[in-house]
Amino acid sequence: MNENHSGTKDCVVVGAGAAGLSAALTLGRARRGTMVIDAGRQSNLVAGGVAGLLGHDGRPPARYYAAGRAELLAYPSVELHSGEVTHGAREDDGTFVLTLGDGRRERARSLVLAPGTDYRHPQVPGLSERWGDAVFHCPFCHGWEVGDRPLGVLATGAVGVHGALNLRAWSDRITLLTNGVELTDGQREQLTAGRVGWDERPVSALDGPGTELRAAVFADGAELALGALLVKSTLYQRSSLARDLGASLCEPDEMLSVEAIKVDAMGRTGVPGLYAAGDAATSVPPSMAAAVASGYLAGAAAAVQLAAGY
Ligand SMILES: Cc1cc2nc3c(=O)[nH]c(=O)nc-3n(C[C@H](O)[C@H](O)[C@H](O)COP(=O)(O)OP(=O)(O)OC[C@H]3O[C@@H](n4cnc5c(N)ncnc54)[C@H](O)[C@@H]3O)c2cc1C
Repeated sequence: MNENHSGTKDCVVVGAGAAGLSAALTLGRARRGTMVIDAGRQSNLVAGGVAGLLGHDGRPPARYYAAGRAELLAYPSVELHSGEVTHGAREDDGTFVLTLGDGRRERARSLVLAPGTDYRHPQVPGLSERWGDAVFHCPFCHGWEVGDRPLGVLATGAVGVHGALNLRAWSDRITLLTNGVELTDGQREQLTAGRVGWDERPVSALDGPGTELRAAVFADGAELALGALLVKSTLYQRSSLARDLGASLCEPDEMLSVEAIKVDAMGRTGVPGLYAAGDAATSVPPSMAAAVASGYLAGAAAAVQLAAGY
């Protein structure tokens, strides 16, 4: 492990999801003393399989992460720790000091933030227990599994119309549920032209046996039969860590809906030595493939900076 006499690591990676594991693999292979600290709550753990990640399509997420951790353990330059980073600061000489939930402190010359994000969706009774299965946020992750069922889209505005039209790739029975918000005439015309139905009544619950979806229930008691539901989610930072360290954040916009840490193409935040990757820093729709790629790039950028000694 490359660390100086005071125990300062070359790099600490916060988070061991697809992005953090990928960053740590890159740093470890560059022989950089790397510590990964992870709270163990990857976003897709509730899902039945990782969809659309080449080489791992359909693999249960927990098995995917276990395989990633096992690959890292082959490198003596990498150590993995369970725990939560609760505070971070950057000292005047550029050293990062992290405090963990158990009071432990770690010091590092560089830091990769890969903490994922908090996916927030409309609060409808019956939604949370179906999340990641019959209720999903990404058709590329779940559309194949629910294809040809009657599908709903719970979203408003242009993003709802876009989501409903896009979902026609997986089923020809699509209904946009605006949950009490009126569509514009132009939006109705778009949906009609695309043979997509809509219902503007407030949705009061989702119903079905166990985690299956049978119907959306409206506030007036009427029901619409549905086999699965796409919901608009907005991704927020899980903690104030990035802000505390001086990184800038983007405002979520209507289409991408991610409160992302601002980074360049190599994951550099603009704060010297501070990198970010994965959902927490995405400027493209979030996915495992994008997380792996951005983690690799941030890890490589950190390794180059460390080798250059600045
Ligand atoms: C339900 C669901 C299903 C999905 N299905 C798919 C799919 O099939 N295919 C696909 O491509 N994408 C899918 N996605 C998206 C995909 O899961 C994410 O894009 C991907 O997990 C992002 O990886 P990440 O490493 O950035 O974050 P995460 O996977 O969320 O990992 C971040 C890790 O950092 C830890 N962490 C956070 N803060 C701290 C802290 N302060 N200290 C220590 N550790 C911390 C977390 O506990 C977590 O373990 C899905 C998302 C959801 C919500």
